[in-house]
Amino acid sequence: MHEGAIAEQIIRIVKDELSKQSSDWAVEKISLSIGKMNAIVPSSLQFFFDVIKVEHPRLKESVLDIKQLPILASCATCSRSFEIEEPLFICSQCGAALAIESGKDMHIEKISFRSEKEGCTLSEEIKK
Ligand SMILES: [Zn+2]
Repeated sequence: MHEGAIAEQIIRIVKDELSKQSSDWAVEKISLSIGKMNAIVPSSLQFFFDVIKVEHPRLKESVLDIKQLPILASCATCSRSFEIEEPLFICSQCGAALAIESGKDMHIEKISFRSEKEGCTLSEEIKK
């Protein structure tokens, strides 16, 4: 169970971005991408996020939007490239060992901020 630690890390990053905005901005939505290789349970991450966010006034109304990315693997022997549901490291076509191309990454894609004062929304694309 490392979802709690990940939720804390997300909040730390978002607070850091928030500190660059003026004080009347609050976080509305955080778009997160997680490769399935990370074996994160989205509902669990969501739970920890909701528990921690209430401690932060400018985050407590925010929503965490989790997008799971497929695991992409390729076979060096038959050069087939495909998506796998589970970390299965054998090529279904020729039986050789697979190389994982993507599915390990995890990053915040976007943070949306909302201003109470101005009633408008600002989105910021974040690449970590
Ligand atoms: Zn193969």
